[in-house]
Amino acid sequence: MFKVKAYAAAAADAPLAPFSIERRDPGPHDVQIDILYCGVCHSDLHQARDDWGGALFPMVPGHEIVGRVVKVGEHVVKLKAGDLAGVGCMVDSCRRCDPCEADLEQFCCEGFTGTYNSRERGSKALVFGGYSEQIVVDQRFVVKVPENLDLQAVAPLLCAGITTFSPLRHWKVGKGQKVGIVGLGGLGHMGVKFAHAMGAHVTMITTSPEKGQDALRLGADEVLVSRDAEAMKQARGKFDFLLNTIPVGHDINPYLALLKLDGAMVLVGALTALDPVLGVNLIFGRKSVAGSLIGGMAETQEMLDFCGEHNIVSDIEVIRIDEINEAYERLLKNDVRYRFVIDIASLKAA
Ligand code: NAP
Ligand code: ZN
Ligand code: ZN
Repeated sequence: MFKVKAYAAAAADAPLAPFSIERRDPGPHDVQIDILYCGVCHSDLHQARDDWGGALFPMVPGHEIVGRVVKVGEHVVKLKAGDLAGVGCMVDSCRRCDPCEADLEQFCCEGFTGTYNSRERGSKALVFGGYSEQIVVDQRFVVKVPENLDLQAVAPLLCAGITTFSPLRHWKVGKGQKVGIVGLGGLGHMGVKFAHAMGAHVTMITTSPEKGQDALRLGADEVLVSRDAEAMKQARGKFDFLLNTIPVGHDINPYLALLKLDGAMVLVGALTALDPVLGVNLIFGRKSVAGSLIGGMAETQEMLDFCGEHNIVSDIEVIRIDEINEAYERLLKNDVRYRFVIDIASLKAA
C-alpha cells in the first residue's frame, strides 16, 4: 500500500477537505496512474450530498480521470508506463454475467464497482475516486487516451462523453434525423457535439436563452427555449430523438409532445421520481421513453477514438482543488460553461 493526497467529504453536510488515502500496490493486472486532471460531474455533487441515499463516507469523488501510467502489472498488455490513460465511472464488475460478457459492464447483474462511493468486490474496502494524486485500476477498466487531444479537456469524456455517446449510438442517431438535446450542461454540451458529428440536425433545448449562442458554436443547428410556450408549441411533433440530461425530477410531458411518430426520448439525468406521465402522450404517436447508463469499457474506448478522429473535447473551466466547494455551489446554480476540471497539480503542490 502507498499513501496519496486526496480531497474528501466526511459526511453529506460537510464540505470537501484535504484527506489522505491508501492505494493498493499494483497487482499483475493493474495499472497505476499518476492523475493529471479530473472532471467534476453533477453526479459527484449528488453523491457527496447523498441525494440518492446510501452514500459511503469518507467519500473521495471523481470519475472523469486522465493521467499518465506510472507502472503496470506483469499481465497488463494494453498499456505501458508513460502512456496516457483514462478511468471513468467503473473500476470493476463480476465479468461473468451476460451483460459483462457482452461488454456492457455498466449493467453487470451483480452491480458494477463504482470508481468511488462503492466497495471493492473482494476486500469490501471503500474505493476512492479521482480527486486524488494517483489511482490503481484493473486494466479492463482503463482506456487509452488519444495523444492528439488537449488532455485537460479530455477528462470529462470519461463520463459526460460516454453517457451521451452511448445512447446516440444505441438509438442509431445519424443523418436525416432531427435530434434534440435537453439541458446544456456538462452532459448536454457533449451530446450536441456528438449528435452534430454523427450527422444529425441538432436542436439545443434549454431553459437558459443566454446559452443560445454557445449552443450554435458547439454544433447545434437551432435553439429551442423550453420556457417559451409558443416556441414549444411550434416545435410539436418535429423530433425523432431527444436526449434528456435534466438532473432533477421534472414534467416530461411537454418534451414528449415534441416527438414525432415512433420518436424516443432517452433519460440520463433524473434518477429520482418524475412527475406523472400521461399515457395518452405515449400512446398517440407510438412514442417511447427509455433510460441509459454511461457505457461499457469497449464503447468508452470507441468514443475516445471517435473524439481523437473528429477532434472532439469538452469545453472546460480549469479549477484548483481548493476551489471545489465553490465549484459545487456554482454547479447547483447552473453556472458552468460547461465542465469544471480539477488540475491535480494543485493537489500535489498543496
Ligand atoms: P449539469 O452540468 O449541472 O447540467 C444540467 C443541465 O440541465 C443544466 O445546465 C441546465 O441546462 C439543465 N437544468 C438544470 N436544472 C434544471 C431544471 N430544474 N429544469 C430544467 N433543466 C434544468 O449536470 P451534468 O453533469 O450534465 O449531469 C446531468 C445529470 O446527469 C445529473 O443528474 C447527473 O447525475 C446525471 N448523470 C447520469 C449519467 C448516466 O449514466 N445516466 C452519467 C453522468 C451523469 P439549461 O440551462 O440548458 O436548461
Ligand atoms: Zn459522471
Ligand atoms: Zn457482471
